[in-house]
Amino acid sequence: MRNFIEAFELAGSSNSEICSCGKIYYDVSDLNDFEDGELESYESNPKAVACDHSIGLLVFEGKEYVQNCECWKFRANQIMDFIDSHNSGIAAYINTERKRKIAEAAAMPLVS
Ligand SMILES: [Zn+2]
Repeated sequence: MRNFIEAFELAGSSNSEICSCGKIYYDVSDLNDFEDGELESYESNPKAVACDHSIGLLVFEGKEYVQNCECWKFRANQIMDFIDSHNSGIAAYINTERKRKIAEAAAMPLVS
């Protein structure tokens, strides 16, 4: 799972993020990071989850997920299983697509 996260994580982190599933994760390790009323609104929200570290995101299939959330892990396991069981085919596809795109680019007229 660590390799999946490294491959799809977004650079940086913040003190709060909304996961694709709707849960809100917020970092209580530095309470000075919140604007007036922000922390109170999280504390009263049943969909908000307090964490003691900054909040990181990962992106795959067009959705943003909070790394701490459990909601994305089932789908990530399906994707990893697919990649692992078809890695030769996936590598061949990427190489073939690379060749096609290079040929396509070479056929484009040069504009000066
Ligand atoms: Zn989630």
